[in-house]
Amino acid sequence: MSAIPAVSPSSSATPFVSPPQASGCETPGVPREILRERGQREVFCGLTGIIWLHRKIQDAFFLVVGSRTCAHLLQSAAGVMVFAEPRFATAIMEERDLAGLADANDELDAIVDRLLERRPDIKLLFLVGSCPSEVIKLDLSRAAARLSRKHLPQVRVLNYSGSGIETTFTQGEDACLAALVPEMPAAPANAARALLVVGALPDVVEDQFRRLFAELGIAPVAFLPAGKAADLPAVGANTVLLLAQPFLGDTARALELRGAARLTAPFPFGAEGTTLWLKAAAEAWGVEDRLFDGVTAPGRQRANRAIANYRGVLHGKRIFFFPDSQLEIPLARFLARELGMIPVEVGTPYLHVQHLAAELALLPASTRLSEGQDVDRQLARCRLEKPDLVVCGLGLANPLEAEGLSTKWSIELVFSPVHGYEQAGDLAELFTRPLVRRDLLRFGT
Ligand code: SF4
Repeated sequence: MSAIPAVSPSSSATPFVSPPQASGCETPGVPREILRERGQREVFCGLTGIIWLHRKIQDAFFLVVGSRTCAHLLQSAAGVMVFAEPRFATAIMEERDLAGLADANDELDAIVDRLLERRPDIKLLFLVGSCPSEVIKLDLSRAAARLSRKHLPQVRVLNYSGSGIETTFTQGEDACLAALVPEMPAAPANAARALLVVGALPDVVEDQFRRLFAELGIAPVAFLPAGKAADLPAVGANTVLLLAQPFLGDTARALELRGAARLTAPFPFGAEGTTLWLKAAAEAWGVEDRLFDGVTAPGRQRANRAIANYRGVLHGKRIFFFPDSQLEIPLARFLARELGMIPVEVGTPYLHVQHLAAELALLPASTRLSEGQDVDRQLARCRLEKPDLVVCGLGLANPLEAEGLSTKWSIELVFSPVHGYEQAGDLAELFTRPLVRRDLLRFGT
C-alpha cells in the first residue's frame, strides 16, 4: 500500500436487473405514484463528499483506503483546491494488497503513523472505505479502533464507507456524519432543550442561520458537523433535530436512537422553504407569530426580489431531474412554486418518505416521481418529454447536450452555497445559466 496526496470525475455504473415497478407512496397525506426502478445507474460515489467535508471540519483528515481510480477521482474533483498541505489523501492498495500477499493492516498502520507524525494539526482522522477495500473485506472499523487506541488523546480515528457500490455521492456525507454520532457526548437528562442543525453548510450560510435563530430567541443551537473535532455537540432526549440536507437518513436515525426528536419541515431552499424550515423550529420553541414574521420578513423580501430576477427566464419551462444528489425533490418544489417551472419527472436515488413528507406535499400533483434508476429507460422517457432543462450527472450531460437538450450538472448544486434567504437568488440563477447559454448559441443575443 502506498500513500499519495489527494484528486476525473467518473461515474460508476452498477448493474441490477429487476424491472421498474410503480407503487403508491404509503405516507399518509402524500398520495402519489412513484416509479421504482433498479437498473444501470450513472452516479458519483461517496468519496465525492470529502471535497466539501474537508473544508468544513477544519482539523480533520480524510484518508481514503482505495485504488488509483479513487485517488484520480479525488484529485480531479478537488483539482482547483489542492493545498500545500491537503487534508485528504489516498492510501493506494497495490496488487499485492489485493492478492493478500501483504498485510494491509500493517501497511495502513505505518501510513497513518507517518501521516500523524508529519501533521500534528490533525485531530480527527477518517479512514474512508472504497470499492476495493470493501471487495477484499478490509475491516476499517477494527483498524480505526486499533489506531484510535494508539493515537488518542491527540487524534481520534473513525471510519466510514465512501464506496460506490450501490451508493450515491451525497451518502458519503451521511456516512461520515453517522460515524460522528457515537462520539457525541451525552447531554445530561436535565439539560435545556437544544436545537441541533444537521448537514454540512458553508460557513457563511451557517452564520446567517445562527443569527436568525438568535433573533428568534431559539437557543442553544449547535451544528453537525462542527468546525473543530473537539466541538462535537451533545445529544440526548432534549435534543431537537432539524435536518438541513435531505440525504441524511442514517445520521438522523443514529441521532434519534440517542434520544433526539426530529422536526418535520421542507428544506431551506428558496424563500418559502427557508421560511417553513425556520418556522418548524420556531413552533417547537413557541415563538410568537409577530416576532417570527418580523425577524424573517427582511430575508424573505430580499430572497423574493432576487428570485424575481430569474422568473422571466424560468417560468413555464419544463424540467427533468435524473437521480443524483438526493436534492432533486426540494429543488423541484422550489422551482415549481417560486419560479413557475414545470417539473416533468423528478428522479431521486433514494426516497425517504418521512424526511421528505413536507416536500412531497408541496410538489405539483402532475410531477412524476421516480426512485432508483434504470438509465436507459429514463433516457427514453426524457427524450420523449423533450424538457427545456435536464438536471443530471456529468456522465449524461454531454451526450444529452449533443442531442440538443440543455443540461445542468447536479453536482454543482451541492458544491455551491444554495441554502437560506441570501442564497435563493443564486440558486435560481444556477438554473437560468444553461437556458441563457442555449439562447446565446442559437440566436447570438
Ligand atoms: S470508491 Fe469505487 S466508485 Fe469511487 S472512485 Fe473508488 S473505485 Fe471508483
